[in-house]
Amino acid sequence: MGLLENKVILITGASRGIGKAIAEECVLQGGTVVFTYLSSDEKARDLENELSKNGGVAKGFRSDASNFEAAQKLVDDVVEEFGTIDVLVNNAGITRDTLLMRMTEEQWDAVINVNLKSAFNLTKAVQRPMLKARSGSIINMSSVVGVKGNAGQSNYAASKAGLIGFTKSIAAELGSRNIRCNAIAPGFIETEMTKSLDEKVVEEWRNGIPLKRGGQPLDVAKATVFLASDMSSYITGQTLHVCGGMLM
Ligand code: NAP
Repeated sequence: MGLLENKVILITGASRGIGKAIAEECVLQGGTVVFTYLSSDEKARDLENELSKNGGVAKGFRSDASNFEAAQKLVDDVVEEFGTIDVLVNNAGITRDTLLMRMTEEQWDAVINVNLKSAFNLTKAVQRPMLKARSGSIINMSSVVGVKGNAGQSNYAASKAGLIGFTKSIAAELGSRNIRCNAIAPGFIETEMTKSLDEKVVEEWRNGIPLKRGGQPLDVAKATVFLASDMSSYITGQTLHVCGGMLM
């Protein structure tokens, strides 16, 4: 029996990268997966087909996680179709990297809205079905950059640090209702988000990581399944670093 049997899992931003790996791993563990994306219609359709093979249950929705009304509508639609939401993975994220000196207000706002406000939007919306069920697991995708900061990423670091504070607060608010909230802080994970980096810089990073490799989306997906499942039923308010020892 899979670790997520009989659970409905909502994952934001899963047309590619880490979110896609989480969706794949959740279906492998017997979960019903609902995932969102913003613009990658074809990739989302392909993923829906892939996940639905061999009896898996999965559905993709185009929905902007940074839009408050859209998040509420998404949750209403999912509850109507699947009955409830047991797990929320706030994974959607973007970067607009540049030094503060060159950062525009648009770059700041875009990153805060997609990375941080989205978690508020979706968590607020899933509160109702989770309170009704007196059970739930919310997982926020932070980053080691949110713990340690990084030059050229002040907007991204602020959004990811904000997610950690949000996680702890929601864990404190909803713990008495058996709703858990944890964060994952991935290190350097090899996805489209990190593809544009210079290969020499990437090689230096790999060498500086105790496990001597960049992380794969599956490494993060496995940690997410753990926090989503009842295997972690006494864990809340924590930030799990998935970074090969990059940040200790
Ligand atoms: P990615 O490959 O760039 O994928 C981002 C996903 O988010 C895509 O599915 C994208 O959909 C979706 N998305 C973007 N804006 C959205 C919005 N407004 N509403 C809904 N979905 C939206 O990123 P990734 O590397 O897998 O990263 C996933 C998460 O992990 C992010 O929160 C990121 O900050 C975090 N993280 C990544 C790393 C890393 O090294 N890769 C490290 C630490 C943390 P479309 O395809 O439709 O645009």
